Amino acid sequence: MNEFARRKTDYDAIIVGAGPAGSTAAILLAQAGWSVAVIEKSTFPRRKVCGECIAATNLSLLDRLGIGLQFDDLAGPELRSVGLFAGAAMLIADLPPFAERPHAWGRALGREHLDTLLLQRAAACGADVWQPWAVKHVARSEALLKTCCVVNPATGATATLSAPVLIAAHGSWDPDPFSEKHRQRPHRNADLFAFKGTYRDARLATGVLPVLAFPGGYGGMVLGDHGQLTLAFCMRRDTLQACRHRYAGMSAALAAQAHVALHCAGVRRALTGALLTAPWLTAGPVRPGIRSPWRFDGVFAIGNAAGEAHPILGEGISMAIQSAWMLCELLVPQRADLVAGRAGADIGRRYTARWRRSFTVRIRVAAWFAHATMRPRTTAALVALLRRWPGLLTMSARLGAKVHRAVKLDGGSPLAAGCPRSR
Ligand SMILES: Cc1cc2nc3c(=O)[nH]c(=O)nc-3n(C[C@H](O)[C@H](O)[C@H](O)COP(=O)(O)OP(=O)(O)OC[C@H]3O[C@@H](n4cnc5c(N)ncnc54)[C@H](O)[C@@H]3O)c2cc1C
Repeated sequence: MNEFARRKTDYDAIIVGAGPAGSTAAILLAQAGWSVAVIEKSTFPRRKVCGECIAATNLSLLDRLGIGLQFDDLAGPELRSVGLFAGAAMLIADLPPFAERPHAWGRALGREHLDTLLLQRAAACGADVWQPWAVKHVARSEALLKTCCVVNPATGATATLSAPVLIAAHGSWDPDPFSEKHRQRPHRNADLFAFKGTYRDARLATGVLPVLAFPGGYGGMVLGDHGQLTLAFCMRRDTLQACRHRYAGMSAALAAQAHVALHCAGVRRALTGALLTAPWLTAGPVRPGIRSPWRFDGVFAIGNAAGEAHPILGEGISMAIQSAWMLCELLVPQRADLVAGRAGADIGRRYTARWRRSFTVRIRVAAWFAHATMRPRTTAALVALLRRWPGLLTMSARLGAKVHRAVKLDGGSPLAAGCPRSR
């Protein structure tokens, strides 16, 4: 008997990817009584390129998902200030608090912890976790049951799963298993490559979240769990090539980090005497933009698979959790119709409209800010402006949705109340 012969292969919903988006959807649908498969190709815990700041708007959602207390125990200090570090400038202003007690401030938590907590919770709620299995192909048909071919990369075993609802939550940095053609996209100078390093003994004031601006890129630094500093940034392809030329003999990550430190006094200061705690991670090309929240009848996308903001605002995890939440609010009351092959298109249209209303502005604000910080001239103008009116930094955080949640937590939600916040 092969390894999956005894496993169930037909579900109400199949979720591809167990990042914050996929696991959130898996928890919510499983709590609502759906039979759910979540397929994740990596083995957890796994590190991931990310700045790891979780905005305050998500913390009540983590409570409802049932991992709020573990998050409280593990996450770094409350983030109460925002900054801009560019050249010699180190400007700091207040972050606006989110008007929901006790969660007024965001905090940072390594993805090896956050993603593992969420996926374990999905399994505890009854989701069937296929891990490490990768979705290779999704049958693109309007038929009632969608099929997904999965392969276990460790053993080479294959299986075919089916469900009336498929949710693409595979992020944006891997080949899209929902697309028929895996096109090799032509290289562009403007492609962004992402890097993450974690350090101990770094010197950054507690609770400060500085945005880093340097020629050809942008990034951020934060103190997260276990007192570690995460430095994460994006760099244009042409800038990275120039760095590799300038710092010949260094790895891409070290050459990129040297460029960031050269152009940001705040980074040099924070890293003086600091020690890298794990190998650098890289990802890319990262190509932010709006993709497609609704693929075809019964097939939806959440998180980065639906659309991605430049990570300068650190809102990707918010968009992942909140897009999953808004999709599940639409799916849960319509389970019978979806299983009978009705309602898929109607939900697709409503979800797309809600997604665009909720996230388009922050995607545009992030794009504007990202392009401004990558160019020395606009960065110089920004620094001059912010020296005069530091409150503009606070205002930018508001515009970037730091105090706005796309989903409401009132009694009207069709989703189960989840876990109360007590031990
Ligand atoms: C430099 C940088 C800094 C960032 N900083 C922040 C920050 O501070 N705060 C913030 O909120 N956001 C930040 N982000 C954005 C954030 O990391 C993403 O938006 C977030 O991870 C998206 O979550 P997701 O669940 O959609 O996708 P992902 O987290 O990418 O998860 C997708 C999962 O799907 C799996 N998968 C992919 N393909 C398949 C397949 N075929 N079969 C099975 N599994 C598959 C992957 O292994 C992965 O586990 C940052 C991003 C970058 C690049």
